[in-house]
Amino acid sequence: MMAETPGSAPSPAGATVTPWHSLDAEACLRLLAATTEGLASADAAARLRRYGENALPPPTPTPGWRRFLRHFNDPLILVLLAAALIALLVGQVVDAVVIVVVVTVNAVVGYVQEGNAEQSLAVLRTMLAPSACVLRDGGRVQVGVGTLVPGDVLMLEAGDRVPADARVLHARGLRVDESVLTGESVPAEKSAAPVAGSADLGSRTSMLYSGTLVSAGQATALVVATGSATEIGRIGALLGQVETLSTPLLRQIARFSRGFTAVALVAAVVLFVFAVAVRDYPWMDALLVVVALAVGVVPEGLPAVITITLAIGVRRMAARDAIVRRLPAVETLGATTVICSDKTGTLTRNEMTARSIGTSAGRLRVLGSGYAPRGEVLAETGGDAALTAGTRVATLGLLCNDARLYGRETDWRIVGDPMEGALLALAGKTGLDAAAIARRYPRIDEVPFDAGHRFMATLHAEADGHGALICVKGAPEQVLLLSRAQAAADGSEAPLDTGLWQRAIDVAGVEGQRVLGFAWRRLGGLPSRFALEDVHGLVFAGFVGFIDPPREEAVRAVAECRSAGIAVKMITGDHAATAAAIASQLKLADRVRVVTGQALDSVSDDELPELAEAASVFARTTPEHKLRIVRALQSRRHTVAMTGDGVNDAPALKQADIGIAMGRKGTAAAKEASVMVLADDNFASIAAAVYEGRAVYDNIRKVLAWTLPTNGGEALAVVMAIAFGWVLPMTPPQILWVNMVLTITLGLALAFEPPEAGVMRRPPRRADAPLVSPFMLWRIVLVSLLFCAGAFGIFSWAQSRGHDVATARTMVVNVLCVLEIFYLFSLRYLHASSFSLRGLRGTPAVLWAVAGVVVAQVAFTYLPWMQMAFDTRPVPLLEGVVIVLVGVALLLVLELEKWLLRRLDAFEELRPDGAR
Ligand code: ATP
Repeated sequence: MMAETPGSAPSPAGATVTPWHSLDAEACLRLLAATTEGLASADAAARLRRYGENALPPPTPTPGWRRFLRHFNDPLILVLLAAALIALLVGQVVDAVVIVVVVTVNAVVGYVQEGNAEQSLAVLRTMLAPSACVLRDGGRVQVGVGTLVPGDVLMLEAGDRVPADARVLHARGLRVDESVLTGESVPAEKSAAPVAGSADLGSRTSMLYSGTLVSAGQATALVVATGSATEIGRIGALLGQVETLSTPLLRQIARFSRGFTAVALVAAVVLFVFAVAVRDYPWMDALLVVVALAVGVVPEGLPAVITITLAIGVRRMAARDAIVRRLPAVETLGATTVICSDKTGTLTRNEMTARSIGTSAGRLRVLGSGYAPRGEVLAETGGDAALTAGTRVATLGLLCNDARLYGRETDWRIVGDPMEGALLALAGKTGLDAAAIARRYPRIDEVPFDAGHRFMATLHAEADGHGALICVKGAPEQVLLLSRAQAAADGSEAPLDTGLWQRAIDVAGVEGQRVLGFAWRRLGGLPSRFALEDVHGLVFAGFVGFIDPPREEAVRAVAECRSAGIAVKMITGDHAATAAAIASQLKLADRVRVVTGQALDSVSDDELPELAEAASVFARTTPEHKLRIVRALQSRRHTVAMTGDGVNDAPALKQADIGIAMGRKGTAAAKEASVMVLADDNFASIAAAVYEGRAVYDNIRKVLAWTLPTNGGEALAVVMAIAFGWVLPMTPPQILWVNMVLTITLGLALAFEPPEAGVMRRPPRRADAPLVSPFMLWRIVLVSLLFCAGAFGIFSWAQSRGHDVATARTMVVNVLCVLEIFYLFSLRYLHASSFSLRGLRGTPAVLWAVAGVVVAQVAFTYLPWMQMAFDTRPVPLLEGVVIVLVGVALLLVLELEKWLLRRLDAFEELRPDGAR
């Protein structure tokens, strides 16, 4: 049955034919020339050269020319091109050429900007590159998934995405969700036992397949196939789906644009008929005007500019360690009203140091800082007996431990759980010889820690006898529940005094210490199995209190969130007293109210929303509680951001408006369920992302407040001219020039606007607030009218000064350009005055855009070939000065309006009651 003789060199082709599932584990190891200790680094590197990277070929990208042509695939652009063709046929060659050039310039700008936006998202994808835990050179290391090779030994646990096809070597409670591969939604149980060679993919319980998700348990497994040789590679499915550049807001705006287009086309037809039949315009002129007008009035560039605004927001957030996985999160973040955060590592530093030990003989104080295994252990009460009892607790902490401590002198680091690292340091301080103890009690098996049962247990053989030892550490109440006795001062067993322990633990908790209880049980011989149910009847040895100070930046970020009207709630697995103490240090609320998981269980879904709003700390919770809390807050119309890291957090992360996973601590399952990942696991990054989110939303509104009235004002002027049978203030190519060159260039600059001052001092916006607020609607109407008045004002003034129509039209285009520039400066601050040094200095984007537009406009007015193309004339100096003054007048009027509205308190979005 075996395809290759044992010991034969593995080959990429071998991976596709070897029935790994039906071979026993040793045979698989032999075939791949591997051992359970993992590969040596040099061997792994050689194999990587031979087998290639563990990655699937990327999907073929859409070719550039197709993406470019997509910019012409818009009904209005097509109508415009058709009009150009008609113009060409009737001999208006210049107009036809101008239209085609303008449309092309517009498409090039769109294409380049879209490329930039795509690129920022591509960078994010590389920032989220997954890693896997493998054994190399005999030790656990974290390596990039791409570098995995056949023969690697993987260490997998709940929440991990299986990174390559692998043969199970050892499994404990392992269940794997293989729905991506088999469509079966119930997780499959896995074990190391071989299965029949004929078993189909879904029944190969000894195999793990790339792309599937470990939903429970732990495993070590041997990589047998990587990259395209994996099952998922062979069916050509993609691992991480590629994010698209779309959000509800973008779709809403695209829909709005489409609707608008239809209306504009109908209006154009009516206007055309009216112009030709009633006002006797030549039909070709009328056609070009109405088409240019329809193109001008429809904000077809809006979705592109908004995509760019979002992409810039994503880039800014990434620079602040908040990696957005799904673009809509950028919009939603700005509306966040509640942030529910984990405690350990997010609000606190997750740098644990043991501070106290509680035993029945007395209480000990532990000195020293960091993970250095040096420092004194002093008996506060109980003297030497307490010291002996403390050493017993430290021994349990050493045995029931998966972390590794390394370093020297002042630089000590750990690999693994910080609390376990602190226990290793504590063992050093109590003078224990870790190596000797490990030899004396070799570990046989373990029950890993789980947030559900809140303890970890290890089974050890006694090297010098026939007995065995179970060591347990965990949440003290939990360990006390599993205990039947306690250790007396001399190490003998005494009756358990739970009340006494509870009081001692509460004291440590009130001091902000995180408390862990320790217990053991001796067995007469080695049991044949060791599972969760076998952990009971323990002897309680005592507890250790750790300090884990709040992050300084988290304290600041909490204050910032509170001033921004965002409530911060801590949801932790820790003890209520500890959580409350840390919450007060963080100043989560003026009066911190703590609710425990147990209390949550006794509250009905109807009562929960009120409680969830009132409380700021949820202690001793399980991941299931998180889901209830999110739902309860959402029922009160909150926009909830929620953090999580474990596989069980996934449902709550999905339910939250903004699920946030930890980049370092988080499992693949949590990251995939989230819309955002924190690269540094730090709460301050959430606040930073909210800040950027608000700024992005402001910029989107600015882009809208820009595009609609600038298009509207110009269209209004032309429609009025046709309606009243006046001479047109602009020719069709000029209309296109204003819309597709000036307006788009300037509008794009708004996408780069930095956040305004006070962004985090105003209340959150309502999630259901319309994008165009009453204030903005008023603004659109006002500015449209002002633009229209400016255009007609200059047009009739020019004619009254004896200028011909072509010069008067050139002046109209120039005045529109100047009005747009001044309006841009006014709009950079939606509510505040633009008359400030910062306001006048602008951003590089604004200055570049203005400089570009000014140069283009001067060329438009004075260059002979431009004059020929657009039928323009040079504008004399005095007229030029008057044109600039019209712009200044607009700025003054708009500043006056802002000032009046501020005085009248008319900015609904600045009012606290506008929040909810
Ligand atoms: P947060 O949810 O804020 O990160 P947490 O880390 O305290 O808080 P969990 O990881 O669910 O939450 O831990 C809950 C409790 O389980 C801890 O307070 C501690 O008592 C216990 N515990 C945590 N880690 C271990 C471990 N490695 N071994 C044994 N017990 C542990």
